[in-house]
Amino acid sequence: MMTLTSYFMEATYLVASILFILSLKMMSHPETARRGMFLAEGGMFAAIVGTLIGTHIISWVWIIGGLALGSIIGGWMAISVPMTAMPQRTALSHAFGALAAALVGIGEFIVKGNEMGVVTRGALGFEVMLGALTTTGSLIAAGKLQDIIAGKPIQFRGQNYLNLLIALAMVSCFVAFWIHPEMVVAFYAMLTLAFIFGVLLVIPIGSADMPVVMSLLNSYAGLAAAATGFVLGNNVLIIAGTLDGFSGFILSVLMCKAMNRSITNVLFGGFGSVIAEASSANAGGVMREISLDDAAMQLAFANRVIFVPGYGLATAQAQHACRELAELLEGRGVTVKYAIHPVAGRMPGHMNVLLAEANVPYAALYEMEQINPEFPSTDVAVVIGANDVVNPDARDNPNSLIAGMPILEVDRARSVIVLKRGQGRGFSGLENPLFFKACTNMLYGDAKASLSQLAQAVQHV
Ligand code: NAP
Repeated sequence: MMTLTSYFMEATYLVASILFILSLKMMSHPETARRGMFLAEGGMFAAIVGTLIGTHIISWVWIIGGLALGSIIGGWMAISVPMTAMPQRTALSHAFGALAAALVGIGEFIVKGNEMGVVTRGALGFEVMLGALTTTGSLIAAGKLQDIIAGKPIQFRGQNYLNLLIALAMVSCFVAFWIHPEMVVAFYAMLTLAFIFGVLLVIPIGSADMPVVMSLLNSYAGLAAAATGFVLGNNVLIIAGTLDGFSGFILSVLMCKAMNRSITNVLFGGFGSVIAEASSANAGGVMREISLDDAAMQLAFANRVIFVPGYGLATAQAQHACRELAELLEGRGVTVKYAIHPVAGRMPGHMNVLLAEANVPYAALYEMEQINPEFPSTDVAVVIGANDVVNPDARDNPNSLIAGMPILEVDRARSVIVLKRGQGRGFSGLENPLFFKACTNMLYGDAKASLSQLAQAVQHV
């Protein structure tokens, strides 16, 4: 029978679910995304309050201890982790979320494994399997993004066959445990194989495909949480997990579309073969350096300028300096636009978030399909710490590791000025022939310092 407490708990869960749905809707647009985040935080708060007032709490000691520890670690991470390290931090969150789901599942199995109905047991198996493989997969992704593990794909002959074998063994153990809950060994074998499978699933993926892997792992973590909701009979977990799972999956599909890849191609790209090292950039030539004054002159006397921000803009936190230079140029009658590549930076929407923070008007941001036809009639394209997303090899070199990934076609502009610190390569580790083209000049230095100095120089033209 429902008590007053459980009515109240379900009511807070309903409020939390509504807030989650509204927040997702608002996060689909840069102008409302920030408010969407606040709604999501409110939803999470309601869900926590709802859970804490439940009658099923046995001991407050562990809960208060966990809350305190989680709050300290979470607060410390929020303050100390730089924006540029957000993807690896997110990967860690996926790992911990998935581990929590797997641990809850293991706990439920130990306590009431034999008493569960067939549906609940299926959900439990799914939860533990997905939770375990997402844990190790996300840890590997975080390691790759943090450069602790080589970011390049780690591949060996027969890798996909081995993966297939392990996946089959894992699913067989799942089915065995599902049908025969007394087969404890099958349960733990599934768990072990899932941990191993998570590692094997992510190590062969690298270079520019990491954004897809991240959103896919996000989706797995969400689905594991939804399965946990079924096992525990917790509605808000089911709803939030499903929202997370499916929005993550939709994001993966959109990322694949943006990069002209299929999900199977990303996950099993090297099927049956060891991918050869990309025959990158037969560049051969030299990178020409431009002086600050010459760059400022080009910009000040241009009619049309396109700014192309990338990861370097984020590391340098150059978004404000970028907007200030744009405003100066606009004051001189120059038309300034911003070209946004869907995977520029290190997380989906990275550039939109940074430029919105600097109050760059949303109308000035152009997506790849909109802006690419405009490059040939552009006087100067200013590449600000972008590399892979403007690499013409992706379009021109079928042997490149990023072949087929759509790029911002800055090499078609009349003149290109590249702001970067030195000869560093992009996330994919590939050489970029754009930097050697006759139309390209390099302005070396930290992006923020270079943009500020350019703004000063433009004022003196
Ligand atoms: P990128 O290919 O990583 O290149 C960034 C460039 O910025 C580097 O060549 C670096 O050269 C320069 N740089 C770094 N710090 C700088 C600073 N302080 N000032 C000036 N320049 C600086 O970046 P991207 O073109 O934005 O491409 C994004 C890549 O990340 C893609 O391969 C994408 O697939 C991948 N990725 C994206 C996501 C996502 O969701 N958006 C997630 C994970 C991975 P120097 O060292 O010479 O300065």
